[in-house]
Amino acid sequence: MRIFLDLDDTLIHSVYNHKNNKNRTYIQFKDDGRYGSVERPIAKDLIQFARSIDPDVSILTTATMDWAMAWSNVFQFGFDENHIYDRHAFTTWRTSIYGGTDIIWNEKSLNLKHAVIVDNNHLINLHDASPIHKMNFLFGEDFDDENWIHMRAFDGNVSADALKADERALDLTQKKILERVEKSLTN
Ligand SMILES: [Mg+2]
Repeated sequence: MRIFLDLDDTLIHSVYNHKNNKNRTYIQFKDDGRYGSVERPIAKDLIQFARSIDPDVSILTTATMDWAMAWSNVFQFGFDENHIYDRHAFTTWRTSIYGGTDIIWNEKSLNLKHAVIVDNNHLINLHDASPIHKMNFLFGEDFDDENWIHMRAFDGNVSADALKADERALDLTQKKILERVEKSLTN
């Protein structure tokens, strides 16, 4: 089963041009300005768990490849170009999914029937359609709400209370992923 992890507010939280804060790592992002990000404390646990099920676990983001690569490198998440699906992938997929479940990415074909996306936000920022409509648009009719695993948003708060809540969110997300795995094995 393929697993896709959202980046922003799922694995990291970023702020634009904010004053220095010791919890954040800052990078100058090309001409776009300076951004500071916090790694979600449970991010690597989530990635490691996902990789134990899908060695090709990938980032799926409506941001750009450069953005995702930059933060993956900063926080040593270990995603290379072949494991990041960015906003340009959406364009690629959108034109390739009509009538089929396979999409083409880097000359590889992916069947998304049993793919899941772990995302803090049910509304991906793409056009104005409803979330399900969007996902059907992108992935074809094999994609439904069951492919979507909602995870509590990470807002950069790394207090003890927030960490506790995140650990519960990680637990829940892992359980949901395992449920999907079981389902994909019986289908
Ligand atoms: Mg997000």
